[in-house]
Amino acid sequence: MKKCPSCGHARSYELADGRSKCKRCGYRYCWPSAWSASRLSDVAKHELLRRFVWGMPVYRQRFGSPASAPAAERFYRLVRACMAWAEEPREPFEGALECDETTFGGAQLGKRGGGAYGKVIVFGIIKRNGQAKALPIAAHSRAEVMLHIQAHTREGALYYTDEWQAYATLKMRGEHVVIRKEKGKPVGRDHINGIERFWSYAQNWLYPYRGVPGKYFHLYLGEVCYRFNHRDQDLKPLLVKLLKATSMQDINPKLVQIR
Ligand SMILES: [Zn+2]
Repeated sequence: MKKCPSCGHARSYELADGRSKCKRCGYRYCWPSAWSASRLSDVAKHELLRRFVWGMPVYRQRFGSPASAPAAERFYRLVRACMAWAEEPREPFEGALECDETTFGGAQLGKRGGGAYGKVIVFGIIKRNGQAKALPIAAHSRAEVMLHIQAHTREGALYYTDEWQAYATLKMRGEHVVIRKEKGKPVGRDHINGIERFWSYAQNWLYPYRGVPGKYFHLYLGEVCYRFNHRDQDLKPLLVKLLKATSMQDINPKLVQIR
């Protein structure tokens, strides 16, 4: 049954843009929400979410799981899609930023995990002591990286990067500090520790999900960004709220999107 995600009231007006407006509290929403799109019971969904917050992959829930493995996987895909969607519309970053690129997966992980994703190139930006954004990119190219810098940072920012050629034109957008390294250690007092910490945070979260399918990698990356950007909050109530407020209409493109 169609219910208001805010107050639970069942009656609503249909708005011209296809959304519904709650007759009791006036909340506007799209239907179905990700929460209601899953046919699992509320008890099962709450339990699955609790385990998700702890970082328990489906293969470790073989016994005593509130749902079958495929149903749990499907539900977690919805959760990740909501997280990825929530991470998307953030404002362009300004101020002191660290930019860097790295690769995930590849031969080593594939051999051990079996069926793991191939090598994925990821570009990341982090605000000093703050939020992070990370996106899979198609190629290790200047054009690709500058495209994301233009979309996700404001002109006039202070950029910290490594010595990679692709960043050479950054000084036309803002200030640019290049971190030179000798034997893996930065020379001088400047550093890009923030983004390097984020990469190891991401590796730690992704490693236990050893069979990440390549076509859903963007969802896992969204999950990692969401976790990182909400690292001081209790995720369980946040995720329940997020799933109830996110419509399938919004996340459907993510569920079919191939990186
Ligand atoms: Zn309502």
